[in-house]
Amino acid sequence: MKEFIIIGAGQSGLSMAYNLSNNNKDYLVLDANEHIGAPWLKRWDSLTLFTPTEYNHLPGMKFPFPKGYYPNKYEVAEYLKSYVEQFKIPIEFNQKVTSVKKVNGIFEVITGSSHYQAKQVIVATGPFHTPYTPPCHLDIADNVTQLHSENYKNPSQLQDGDCLVVGAGDSGVQILSEIAETGRTVHFSGTDKIAAIPQTFLGKTLWWWFSKIGFLSVSRYSKVGKWLSKGVQPVIGTDVKSLLAKDNVIHMGRTLSADESHITFQKGSVSSIKNIIWATGFKPNFFWIDGISFDEMNYPSNYRGVSSDVEGLYFIGLPWLYTRGSATLGGVYKDAEYLMTHILDVKAA
Ligand SMILES: Cc1cc2nc3c(=O)[nH]c(=O)nc-3n(C[C@H](O)[C@H](O)[C@H](O)COP(=O)(O)OP(=O)(O)OC[C@H]3O[C@@H](n4cnc5c(N)ncnc54)[C@H](O)[C@@H]3O)c2cc1C
Repeated sequence: MKEFIIIGAGQSGLSMAYNLSNNNKDYLVLDANEHIGAPWLKRWDSLTLFTPTEYNHLPGMKFPFPKGYYPNKYEVAEYLKSYVEQFKIPIEFNQKVTSVKKVNGIFEVITGSSHYQAKQVIVATGPFHTPYTPPCHLDIADNVTQLHSENYKNPSQLQDGDCLVVGAGDSGVQILSEIAETGRTVHFSGTDKIAAIPQTFLGKTLWWWFSKIGFLSVSRYSKVGKWLSKGVQPVIGTDVKSLLAKDNVIHMGRTLSADESHITFQKGSVSSIKNIIWATGFKPNFFWIDGISFDEMNYPSNYRGVSSDVEGLYFIGLPWLYTRGSATLGGVYKDAEYLMTHILDVKAA
């Protein structure tokens, strides 16, 4: 039996592993993927971070690029790999946890092929689990290529003909921009009232301004934090106005329905679409954990990552776990430190 099992070897799980190692705790990390950095490598090829180097450091090891540089996804994956090597973090890959249940004070952790036991469990499975695609995608003709943003890599996956990109978040507008660059007609579905902020302003990076005005440390439990965490997050670093003004980009409003030959939007029906990218987000899935309750978004009830329901169970890496920085490379260390201190305090009490 382990003292701790961490589920998930992304930045959140690794930050927790670093803290447990520093405190000489006996632990094991389990990860569903085959190798470190997989969630980053699976994202689209041209992805670069919206946070510059100086906001990407995990605890104990600097992100190895110059200040002001925006790393690509390969560089992030490489950094996570070096991190695991540097701190000799014990990880078992290809272990997707399908059930966690506390029985007689011990956590039973079940994967497809193994059964583990631990006194405490830290869930670090990330914020993005089940891709969401609106039900009308089932009504669309079979000869239309449909991809969720989770599976989109680059425009070479598309067949000839018009494209539709659905979703007005960061992923939607970045993918729209990349496909529009190819010159084909791209229909865009989603609001055109997108709040967008540039990556730099008055010679400083956006994240410099965020930290200067205290935005990154506003707690979700404060009045301002409650308002910020519930609001729509602005798009970062894409010039949305110029993008939507391009001749080959057609704004259609919301997607309403579809049949074999047409897709109907707020602004009319289109029959020429041959490719669709659904950048319509993800739903969390923590239903495999026994005995926990959920908030209105189906995230586990917790205070700063400490489960409200099950003693010895923790969460890290949830969006706005405590602040906007909680689900970022450079911000997760604060939550990991808090949890470590909590764990040590409980033990000492
Ligand atoms: C498109 C995109 C761009 C982003 N850009 C930035 C950026 O510029 N800067 C920034 O700081 N942040 C950025 N983020 C936010 C955040 O840093 C990433 O989402 C990051 O991957 C979250 O790290 P994590 O460790 O919490 O989760 P993940 O990286 O998702 O890692 C979770 C791990 O848990 C494993 N896992 C999941 N379920 C199970 C299970 N049941 N059993 C076992 N293992 C499991 C997965 O295999 C995975 O390895 C971005 C996110 C996205 C989606």
